[in-house]
Amino acid sequence: MSTIDNLPPLRQVINTHELQARKSLGQNFLLDLNLTAKIARQAGDLTECDVLEIGPGPGGLTRGLLAEGARRVLAIEKDRRCMPALAEIAAAYPDRLQVIEGDALEVDPLAHLTPPIRVAANLPYNIGTELLVRWLTPTDWPPFWQSLTLMFQREVAERIVAQPGSKAYGRLALLAQWRADAKIVLNLPPEAFTPPPKISSAVVHLTALPEPRFPADAAILSRTVAAAFNQRRKMLRAALKGTAPDIEDRLIAAGLKPTDRAEQVPLEGFCALAREIAKP
Ligand code: SAM
Repeated sequence: MSTIDNLPPLRQVINTHELQARKSLGQNFLLDLNLTAKIARQAGDLTECDVLEIGPGPGGLTRGLLAEGARRVLAIEKDRRCMPALAEIAAAYPDRLQVIEGDALEVDPLAHLTPPIRVAANLPYNIGTELLVRWLTPTDWPPFWQSLTLMFQREVAERIVAQPGSKAYGRLALLAQWRADAKIVLNLPPEAFTPPPKISSAVVHLTALPEPRFPADAAILSRTVAAAFNQRRKMLRAALKGTAPDIEDRLIAAGLKPTDRAEQVPLEGFCALAREIAKP
């Protein structure tokens, strides 16, 4: 039986279980356990937490999370080929790793987790943004998670932390920053992965705020931001024409200029506008 001390190196795990990376599953593996431990440390103190990991693959980050003291890890992995490698890790950390074979977009992990919960993952790029948006838009706030520590393509990471006035600023930044603190905590070059992807990556750490930074109705804010950025080159009065017949008056009441463009409006301005649009 495997113990922590004799778990094989990840390259060997990949060879033994024939885990040649598949592009269709977004597989770019992290094989350096020092690096996966470093990513796990970015997730904060895990000793009192259950950790949800999406896409453990051969288990590099999983091993990092467990070695850093996670109380329990629930890992959801779509690729059946990874199950034996993950079972070896589960055997080395009795009662601390549960693996579900399935699609993270379909499995509801909450039945298997006890709060407090943190999320940590080297996400498959094809579903990363979709999962993030889901985690940021639950029906109730605060959400089930205390923090999210997630690997993204660097360009996506920059969109999450972007500030007004930059090209990267848009819906994702506003969604993330309305109810969470978001920062890039680690940059990784393509060579950190096997096989190396074409682009650089970055780890983003998001901490859930107890309450939204500024009051607003979530659905109205989301609709307003989407409309404003769908036509980001247009002035707000034109881009938001469809949202209310007297949109110019409402923009002014919110302290915004009807001639501004979405890219210039800070989060506080969008929240003020959502409150004005909510008025009868
Ligand atoms: N965590 C591992 C690491 O850091 O080496 C693997 C990361 S790799 C970028 C993404 C992983 O997500 C792969 O193992 C892939 O099989 C898995 N995956 C892809 N789509 C998935 C889905 N819909 N649900 C769950 N896992 C998925």
